[in-house]
Amino acid sequence: MHDCVIIGGGPAGLTAAIYLARFHLDIAVFDNGSSRAASIPCTHNHAGYPGGISGPDLLGRMSEQAASFGVRTHRATVTAIEPTGDDFVIRTSDTQVEARTVLLATGVVNNRPDMDDALHDRALSEGLLRYCPICDGYEVTDKRVGVIGTGSHGMREALFLCGYSRDITLIAPDAAHMLDEECAAALDRAGISRVDGPCGGYAIEQDQFALDTAAGRLSFDSVYPALGSQIRSELALAAGARGTDDGCIVTDEHQRTTLPGLYAAGDVVKGLDQISHAMGQAGVAATTIRNELSERHPIRR
Ligand SMILES: Cc1cc2nc3c(=O)[nH]c(=O)nc-3n(C[C@H](O)[C@H](O)[C@H](O)COP(=O)(O)OP(=O)(O)OC[C@H]3O[C@@H](n4cnc5c(N)ncnc54)[C@H](O)[C@@H]3O)c2cc1C
Repeated sequence: MHDCVIIGGGPAGLTAAIYLARFHLDIAVFDNGSSRAASIPCTHNHAGYPGGISGPDLLGRMSEQAASFGVRTHRATVTAIEPTGDDFVIRTSDTQVEARTVLLATGVVNNRPDMDDALHDRALSEGLLRYCPICDGYEVTDKRVGVIGTGSHGMREALFLCGYSRDITLIAPDAAHMLDEECAAALDRAGISRVDGPCGGYAIEQDQFALDTAAGRLSFDSVYPALGSQIRSELALAAGARGTDDGCIVTDEHQRTTLPGLYAAGDVVKGLDQISHAMGQAGVAATTIRNELSERHPIRR
């Protein structure tokens, strides 16, 4: 019986693992190797790294730090969390473990434009494709920027990017834009060009990201897909925890879900979708877990 099983070995899961191991608790981490942080070519907004650090380097350092306190990470996909009285059974395809508490830190997956993985990964690594204006809008300052999206989500992303460049184009992913009067007026006020789709024919051409649109072939220094994401909250929802309308896990300010003993941190909880926020929530979750375990069975050295 583990004190806590952490599902997810991204910035949230690994931060919680470091805290919990240093509380002298018995924990296990399950991770299936698909952290969003692993796709960051170089983050420049994560404090403490002048010059930046790549996502894989950051995860590597965090894993090393966790391992130095005895944390074991199992490379497996968790398929179910089953509440059993006060405790939980956590299942993968070929094993099951028991735990007094569970922390879900499974993150989200960005919806991508339809292109092959090799092109996607090259464009991402060269900064031609970007997913997070809060993270790297600074890097597109005064550049020619495209946003693939529409509706209020596409509008918000395009408006946010106006703080970095005057040359922003919002491109409808499918056919015509779906913008109500309010959205259209806000885009007009900000001077954001609008182009209908459908988008396609993605390629890197002369160091730019090029695509077909209803207005012909266009090229940009960087393109931000604003196509939403899939929230990896299904394990918690199936176990009985409450979700928000958009599929995030509902927690209180101590990262407790509505299911006693189940906690959640990071992108899977509605929030800023940033490394620092994921780490902060994980620190809060780990300390709450420690204190609540101690109420059940006093923790003594
Ligand atoms: C291209 C890009 C650039 C970004 N740049 C920045 C930046 O510069 N600064 C910044 O602050 N943020 C940045 N972000 C956002 C940042 O990556 C996320 O906010 C952060 O990774 C969230 O951490 P997390 O631990 O919640 O989720 P994740 O990092 O996504 O980790 C979730 C983990 O859960 C595991 N998992 C999921 N389901 C299961 C399961 N069923 N069983 C086992 N394991 C499972 C996955 O393998 C994964 O390792 C960027 C994101 C992208 C995509």
